[in-house]
Parts: sequence; structure tokens; C-alpha cells
Amino acid sequence: MPTGAGKSVCFQVPALMAEGITLVISPLISLMKDQVSALNQAGIHAAYLNSSLSMGQYVKALQLAKAGRYKIIYVAPERLVTDGFLDFALNSGIKISMVAVDEAHCVSQWGQDFRPGYLKIAEFIRKLAHRPIVSAYTATATEDVRGDIIELLELREPAVTVTGFDRDNLYFAVKKPVDKYKELVTYLRKKEQELSGCSGIVYCLTRKSVEDISYRLRQDGFSVTRYHAGLSDEERRENQDDFIYDRRHVMVATNAFGMGIDKSDVRFVVHYNMPKNMESYYQEAGRAGRDGAPAECILYYEPSDVRMNQMFIGNNENNEMLDAAAKALIEERDRRRLKQMTFYCFTSECLRHYILKYFGEETSGYCGNCLNCLTQFEEVDITREVSAILKCIRENWTAYGITTIIDILRGAKSQRILSKNLDRNSQYGLLSGQSVTRLRQIIQEMMYRGYLELSGEAYPVLRLAEGAEGTRRLPAEGERQTSPGAGEETAPIVLKLPKEQERKTGGSGGEAGSAGGRKRKKAGAAAALREKDIELFEELRALRREIAAEEKVPPYIIFSDKTLVLMCLARPGDSAALLGISGIGEYKVKKYGERFLEVLGVQ
Ligand SMILES: [Zn+2]
Repeated sequence: MPTGAGKSVCFQVPALMAEGITLVISPLISLMKDQVSALNQAGIHAAYLNSSLSMGQYVKALQLAKAGRYKIIYVAPERLVTDGFLDFALNSGIKISMVAVDEAHCVSQWGQDFRPGYLKIAEFIRKLAHRPIVSAYTATATEDVRGDIIELLELREPAVTVTGFDRDNLYFAVKKPVDKYKELVTYLRKKEQELSGCSGIVYCLTRKSVEDISYRLRQDGFSVTRYHAGLSDEERRENQDDFIYDRRHVMVATNAFGMGIDKSDVRFVVHYNMPKNMESYYQEAGRAGRDGAPAECILYYEPSDVRMNQMFIGNNENNEMLDAAAKALIEERDRRRLKQMTFYCFTSECLRHYILKYFGEETSGYCGNCLNCLTQFEEVDITREVSAILKCIRENWTAYGITTIIDILRGAKSQRILSKNLDRNSQYGLLSGQSVTRLRQIIQEMMYRGYLELSGEAYPVLRLAEGAEGTRRLPAEGERQTSPGAGEETAPIVLKLPKEQERKTGGSGGEAGSAGGRKRKKAGAAAALREKDIELFEELRALRREIAAEEKVPPYIIFSDKTLVLMCLARPGDSAALLGISGIGEYKVKKYGERFLEVLGVQ
């Protein structure tokens, strides 16, 4: 199931109905803490056992567990086979009716977050006197990972369910701004205007860029915090809490941030750099809009991101424990995935369609809620450009990277070009009128269609794809000519590109649809509200913040943004009417109903 689709409900509800205890195996302390406080908030007794507890707290929690105080216990995988926990599981007379393995892809080395501790789960279950129901959940179950989950967790004839991966409240866009930082600032200001104080995440590829971007944003007056593996445990915890409790609105982070973060009201996720594969992208982007209200997922593409990722693939430390053959296999797989990710940044198809297709799901090809669906494209004949690019590459004695090829075609007079005599290439300067962005787009398209390929690791170079079917269909020697006999013209090569007129508004060279120019739906949960409802919405949020502070829980755990919006629209006048609103149960009516009704009544 995709991130945000409600995996935890799948084991929490059965846990309540079964007799005995459900153990939930979870990889992250933050995840446990958050889910346990949400459960307790809903009136369900739950606890977690992990390294964040002191010895005293741990012993106490185990005692309460033995006494049958908890219905659901979250536990770290490494803890399962420790003496203390085994004693509890085997000798205390309690019944473990279900073991639910969350983030189950951690058991697989094919996944991206391999955790050796997950390999202990099967061992633990084997030790139990009665085999409980074993269930496993993940948002990233490609074929390989699914196989590993079944095998390594020793599932017995499991019922396998794969739900749809679509999250239709998410808007997707890829941009290629000339000045990424400026674009980000403009975007954040716009978000701030639409819904002040709304939360968002900005993902960067490296710790250094997290430091840099978070510092600059702070200087520019934004409410920002940061997160990466180089910070102390304490600072990470603090910053994460600042974000979750709405004390800071923008989290700038590496991919170390987010797994298990249950914050449901994240209204946007901006990728300041392109991640290494679609799995990571969809998982990270999927942290937006978990409450089901509209949210935005924007990716800023820059060519250097590809190189950076390529470098990471070459230096993957996780691969050190593998033998040479397995290592080569995984590197090859990672490069293939990186290529798919790069194609995402250049496709003119519906972005949602591209993502879902990647995960093996078919769609109509038009979603109406991504930048590509909302951009007017025109079909452009690129035969001349394609033939110039092919000729240029064929003529060179050595293979060069994309940047150099583009420099030759645009007639650059740089030292690099001149010193290598590349200005003598017959195609030198032939496409001087074309922008770098457009030529890049065309080269990416040629790779996508199999005419060209990138090879080499540290410095990838462009080559003609060997035996690629496409090459033969291209005009011979790149000339588009009338064949003498038939009088028939070779079919032109056509590319869908954003319409020229829109290029002027964007200021980002070719990337159409600066969101300001288009009357897009107002982002955020408040989208459905009329002007006068907004005021009420803000008051409800203020009350929610107040209660959250009193109870020391994140605001979205009290009520989601979406629930507040529904309150504004329905204007319930009593407890019964409150109960009719999605996201409000009896327990919460009892606990908060009066205070919310008071605010609703004032209006
Ligand atoms: Zn679309």
C-alpha cells in the first residue's frame, strides 16, 4: 500500500478484536512513539519497547504488559530475541495473537532500508509455543521485495494483497529552474500566503545542502528546521518535534528524515534534488497529504543530481558486505533505477501515469492533477536536432558527456571545446539558437527511445545505442530527404514540448506553467472553504493547537486538517452532529466536543 493509505489501521483494528496482545515490529523509534501516542489518544492502551526507554521504564512497561494492560505493543526487531523480552513472550502466560511486521521491506536487501534486525523476526516466531497470525506491511513492494518478505519472514501460505498505488490528492510537478533557490523562496512565500503556517518538507541530497538551504531560508525569514544523519541524536529529536508540533513549518532534510513520521498535514514536499530512484521519490513525496486533503509534490531537476546519484551508487557502503557478483548486480539495478528516475523528469506524459506505470499499474494516461496534464504541449519536429546530435556524436573520436555535446552543438567558445578542437566538428554551432534545456530534453528523449545511451561511471559519456532498433529508423546520416523512388518523405521525429508562449511566464527556460499564472486549485485542506469559512478554520486550528500543547501531542493527532474543514462546512451544532463528521469518534467527542462546539457556536 502506498504511504499514507492507512497501513496501520490494517493491524490496529484486528488487534482490538483479537484476544491477547498484538506485537507490532517497527524499525523506528519515532514511528513507534507517534503511533502509540495516537492510539492512546484514541483511548486504546498501547506501549512501545525500544532503546529510548531507560532500564527502569523498560522493566515497568514489561510488568504492565504481563499484567495485560496493553492491547498493542510496539517493539524494535533487535529486542525480540533478548533474554528479557523472550522471558516475557514465553513465560508470562500472556497470549500473543498476532505479530504485525511494519515496514516489512526492511527485511530485504533489495529494499532501500535493509535492517539486519528484521532477520531475527522469523527466529522469534519459531520460539513461540503457539504460532500467532503473522502479517507484513510495506509501501514499497516490488516483485523482489515481496518474495523476500514471504521467504525471510517465513510466512505460511500468505494472502498477498497489493492495493492501488494512486494518491489522487497529490499534485505532481517537475521543474527545472535556472535558480533553484529563488524558485523555492517564491514557492514557499506563495504557500505561506495560501495557508499561513502550513507544513512542508524540502528534501536535499546531501547534508551539506541541507545545512546550506536551511541556513539561507532562515536568513530569509522562514520558519525552518533541519534534519540529517550528521546531527546529534538530541538535535534530531528536537528538530523533528519542532516540525511535528508545528513550532517550525518547513523541514529541510536528507532522506534520513521521514520514515515513520506520521504527520498527516504536510501540505507540500519539495525535492530540491532528484532522488536516486522512483521508489524513494514516491515514498518521500507520499509524506504529503496523508490526511487526504490536496497537497503538492514538486521536484526540481538539475543535471548535476544525476552525477551525484551516480557517485552514490558507486560508493554504496551497504554493498560492502556482498560478494562481487551480487554487488555488480545491485549496482546495475541501481543505475537502471536512476535512469527511470531521470526519465520521470523529462517525460511529457502525465506524471501520475508515469509513476503508477513504474509500480505496475495502468491508468488512463490523464489525471488532470499534475503539471504535465495541466500544461499545453505542442508537437515539435525535432528531426533536424536529432540528426545533428547523432552526427556530432558519430564524428567525435572520443565519447563525451551530455554537456560537452551540447556545447559543441551550440558553438561554445570555451577553453575545453577549443583545446580539444571540437570546434572543427561539422555540427559545431549548428544548433546555436536552441536553449541548453531544450537540447537536454531532446537528448533525454533520444535515450528514452533507445537511440542513445549513457555509459561510464564517474564520467558518463553519450554513445549511440548499439543495435538499437531506433537508429535504423532514423534518417540516414541524419538527412531528411526524399527517397528517389517512392517520392515519400522519411517520417519526421516528433517531440511533445511545452508551448513556447508559456516559456515566457515561467522564467525557468522551457518549463511551462508557473503556478502563479494558472488558476490552480488553492492548495491545502482549506481549499474547499469560502472566504468567511477561512476565519473559522483558523480559529479551530488555534483551539487544536492549544489542546495539543496541553496534551503534549502533535496537533494533527487531535483532529486532521481535513476534519476541521468538514467542521467548517457542516457547522455541527451538537455532539450528535459532530459524530457524523469523518475523523471524529465517540471518544474524541467526549474529550474535545464541548470546546470545539463552543468555537463553532460563536460563529
Ligand atoms: Zn497527470
